Amino acid sequence: MKLLVTGGAGYIGSVVSAQLVEAGHEVVVLDDLSTGHEDAVAEGARLVSGTLRERAPEVLAEGGFDAVLHFAAKSLVGESVEKPGLYWDKNLGESLALLEAMRVAGVEKIVFSSTAATYGEPESTPILETDPTRPTNPYGASKLAIDTSLAEYARLHGIGGVSLRYFNVAGAAGPQGERHAVETHLIPNVLKVALGERESVSVFGEDYPTPDGTCLRDYIHVVDLGVAHLLALDACEPGSHQIFNLGSGHGYSVREVIEVCRQVTGHPIPVVTGPRRAGDPAVLVASSEKIKSQLGWKPERDLRAMVGDAWTFVQGR
Ligand code: UDP
Repeated sequence: MKLLVTGGAGYIGSVVSAQLVEAGHEVVVLDDLSTGHEDAVAEGARLVSGTLRERAPEVLAEGGFDAVLHFAAKSLVGESVEKPGLYWDKNLGESLALLEAMRVAGVEKIVFSSTAATYGEPESTPILETDPTRPTNPYGASKLAIDTSLAEYARLHGIGGVSLRYFNVAGAAGPQGERHAVETHLIPNVLKVALGERESVSVFGEDYPTPDGTCLRDYIHVVDLGVAHLLALDACEPGSHQIFNLGSGHGYSVREVIEVCRQVTGHPIPVVTGPRRAGDPAVLVASSEKIKSQLGWKPERDLRAMVGDAWTFVQGR
């Protein structure tokens, strides 16, 4: 297939692009390189640099595209609270420009990077796709609005859309991994300590109603996540919008993650306990039964593999 990958210079987009090229697809990456890196673009993919608004219409007008995989987004929760307008404009606004460009060019399939942040504070665990969506920050709200837009474009214009709601993505795929200018995520921050770039890692709150008092999150290896995108691509059905959670169904505490990092790196990883981070729910664990039963996906790489691959990646840089 000929595929447009938006955000293909970013962490997840670059890993999935490499898997798509490997599977024999023709990949065009569209990325404004605001947070992505030109040298992360998968070998064999063609890079067009620019925003979706500026370049998606002309790129899709080239013709022959079978589908779009849409990763391009602003994705920092804290920043979204400070600059909601930026998140609505870049996430929802640019996605609408992309959907319009698809409609005009007659491209009918899209796989979209949605997020667990669309659910907000869960009422029950594990979270099902049918659970209420009450995002607690503009990042989650803007992603939920895109999910809704996909449903409308499916109903009114016949596109086939799949939204994949990622939980906590981690790990690396050889030369492709996580390298954000502003790093907020737990595993990369712990590995900075092991690399000697930071003295200690902060644990944001130890007074949660969980077994060791720290938050539980559902981690998924970026390679397993990529496999789900290839399955989702085949599952796009004209006129329908489908939503699937992507996680392992198992929650690890912040303390457990740090312990695995100690085992993998052999570094003692000093910890400083700090206050809770605003907006962090105590437990976020996905039910991934739907994607398992309907698309035959299953996660194959555990937390140790995620930390091990991320550790190999950061050491190589
Ligand atoms: N966390 C932490 N210290 C850090 C970064 C994260 O204690 O330096 C905690 C955070 O409060 C959350 C968990 O680790 O409970 C996962 O956070 P992350 O930012 O990686 O992902 P999120 O779940 O927010 O998407």
